[in-house]
Parts: sequence; structure tokens; C-alpha cells
Amino acid sequence: MNVLLVGAGGREHALAWALSASPLLTKLFCAPGNPGIAEVAQCVALDPANHELIIEYCRDERIDLVVIGPEAPLVAGLGDALGESGIRYFGPTKAAAKLEGSKGFTKDLCRKANIPTAAYGRFMDRDAAMTYLTAQPLPVVVKADGLAAGKGVVIATTRQEAEAAVDACLSGAFGAAGAEVVIEEFLEGEEASFFALCDGVTALPLASAQDHKRVGDGDTGPNTGGMGAYSPAPIMTPQMTNRVMREIINPTVKAMADRGAPFKGVLFAGLMITDAGPKLIEYNVRFGDPETQVLMMRLKSDLLAALLATADGVLSNFDLRWSDDTALTIVMAANGYPGTPVKGTEIKGLDAAKQTPGVEIFHAGTRRDGARLLADGGRVLNVTARGRTVAEARDAAYAAIARIDWPGGFYRKDIGWRALERSKT
Ligand code: AMP
Repeated sequence: MNVLLVGAGGREHALAWALSASPLLTKLFCAPGNPGIAEVAQCVALDPANHELIIEYCRDERIDLVVIGPEAPLVAGLGDALGESGIRYFGPTKAAAKLEGSKGFTKDLCRKANIPTAAYGRFMDRDAAMTYLTAQPLPVVVKADGLAAGKGVVIATTRQEAEAAVDACLSGAFGAAGAEVVIEEFLEGEEASFFALCDGVTALPLASAQDHKRVGDGDTGPNTGGMGAYSPAPIMTPQMTNRVMREIINPTVKAMADRGAPFKGVLFAGLMITDAGPKLIEYNVRFGDPETQVLMMRLKSDLLAALLATADGVLSNFDLRWSDDTALTIVMAANGYPGTPVKGTEIKGLDAAKQTPGVEIFHAGTRRDGARLLADGGRVLNVTARGRTVAEARDAAYAAIARIDWPGGFYRKDIGWRALERSKT
């Protein structure tokens, strides 16, 4: 089979790495890809926003499956365009991608289907939003309704902060994404990421993961796209997994099918595990980044077969096997991230680092300049390791980092601390 993967980040490198090991694969293409992906796939300079060009390429190269990595092309309807041209793809339609594309849509769906989530109100009108705010306890969470590249969420600890967040949203700080604002109850507990493949009717749980969103050690400083992750998440016991499937994932799949927008692809639930049980914080309609990097390190089954079964709607006959090992990934970011990252600094020592037993290094934001490898984004490398325990995986990942010579980058020194503490008790 010929497969075209769409995307250019560390998530796509991890997916490409897993897909390239499939016995079903003839040739893997990636649009646009990156230098790491180029080691396992043929990278093609196609813009995912240009649906016609992607369709033409699929026809020319006889692509049997398109795997869409990031949310933007999904929300823009790349899947629908492929489907209308008779090209098989992995990912939701535009209508189903609303689960990520509109927080208000998801909140309303939860309310109707009785799915546990934070209490909320959604507003386009400033006065109505402010009136609602005055009755809410602090802290309170203010979110832009649409896609805001992870930047549209404010956890306000004062009324002024909450009001400023509402104003920022409604006055266009996030463009069209902020035309509507969602105000939410603050949930207390431990966060976990949970993934399930869905074929429109059946949902199959994948492994769980936890990530570190803050830029600094001790989970301090501004939010980022994720500075590291590990799988499994110790808090996601088999009982908790069953509960999440029963109370959150399965009712969502059913509600989407009932609305005539069946969800196909991977559903990524951001959860808060509260004293009252699991609650949905938000959905993403694609694989997590950097969570995918750790999931792929633990997946024993053929990823391509699983994605095909999802696209073909035959997941009910499917099963997945996972390694009992722990996988852990550390994000190396360019100095300046999550503000303006410094681009173009040289990275050396990757070949030596890759020799560390149990380690894979996924490229997230790099480019080649002749033989030199340069940083080309905020999050640049994902140094990922597998071990029998979280401590073993962490030690291997940090041993690999010690071999990387990149003064232009930084990383957190405490990835996995929560899981490590749990493993000691
Ligand atoms: P989101 O973009 O919706 O995932 O929000 C980003 C982060 O904000 C989440 O990962 C949580 O850490 C935090 N967050 C969002 N909503 C809530 C909430 N209702 N209660 C507590 N924390 C939240």
C-alpha cells in the first residue's frame, strides 16, 4: 500500500516511524515532512491547505490511504475533499472535527449526552458574558471558542483577569476563533490524555499518556504545546479506562453518529481526573503531540492495519497490543520558546545520541542546510526512550540528551516527575 502522511512535526515523525515498520506498506510519502521523516519516507513539498493539489498527487502516486496528522487541515475539510474524490483517508470529516474546532459545540454535546465536564456558559455578547462571570466562583476559565493554537485559554484567578480575557477574546485577539467565548468552571484534579480510535460506531481505546504543558521545571512558567510526556499515565488504571470509555468516549461516538456526523479517526480526550471521577476538559480530533511519540514507542501492533480498520469501519474486529514498558519523551525547544524561538542554530551529536539503547529521536522543527542540521521552530526535537520502568526510560532519554550538542536549545530536567513519585509509593 502507498500511504501519504500529512504534517511536519514530531507527531508525524513518530507516526511515520511506526508506519514504515508495517508489512502492509509499499511506499510512504509525507507532505511536507521534515529531515527526520525523510529518513523513513519520501517528503513532498505539498501545502496541506491546497486540497486540489493533494488530490492530484494521490491519484498520480496511487495513494491507498491518506493519514492527516494536524487539526488545521481536518477542520478545513481536507478529509471531506479526499472522500468526495474517492480517496481513503484517516481522520474525521469537517463536521466531526467540530469536536475540536468549536469548544461550545462540544460543551453542548456533553450537556445533551450527559457526559461529565465543567459547568459552562457560551457567549457572543459582552454584557451577557460579564453578567454570567459575576456569578462564578474563582478561579474561572475563559476560552476562545475556536482553534487558537493552544493560546486561547486563560485560567483567571481574579475578576479583572477574567474580564480582560473575555474582552481580549471578543475584541479579536484570536481572530474568528474568539468571536464566541466559553466561560467554564475550574476543575481540580490530575490531568491525563486519553486516546481512542473511532470508526464512526466503535471506539477502541489506545494507551494513555500525561504531558507537561508548562515551560519550566516544577510545572512553572507559561503554557506550551508540551515539553514532554510519558505513557502509560499511572492514574489511568484499567477501571478508570473503562469508566472513561463508558461515560465519555462511547456516548460521544453515539451522539456524533446520531447527529449524522459520525466520528472517524482518533479522538484525543483531555481529561481531569477529579474526586468525583473523570471529566472531559476538551477534545482534540487528532493524535497528541508529544503524546504520540510515547504511544508509538509502546505500540506492538501494526499501526497501518489499525488506521485502515478505522477508515474502513471495521474496528469491532480489531485489537491492539501494547508493550508493558514505559515510554517517555523530552522536548528540546529552541531558546525563546514559547515566545519567539531563535531559528537557525546548529544541532550536533544526534547520531551519537541515537545510539543510546532504547532511544528514538523524533524531529519536530528542524531543517537541513547541506550536511548541517538546524533548528527551525519552537519545539525542535523529541528525545524519546522506552524502559521497563519510568525511571529507566527517563535515564535513557536524559543520557541521549547529554550527547546532543546544541547550545541554542533547552529542555526540562524533570519530565516524568509525577509518575516517578507515584512509582516510589
Ligand atoms: P485546553 O486548550 O482546553 O486543553 O486547555 C488548556 C489547559 O488549560 C488544559 O490542559 C488544562 O490544564 C487547563 N484547563 C482548561 N480548562 C480547564 C478547566 N475547566 N479546569 C481546569 N483547568 C482547565
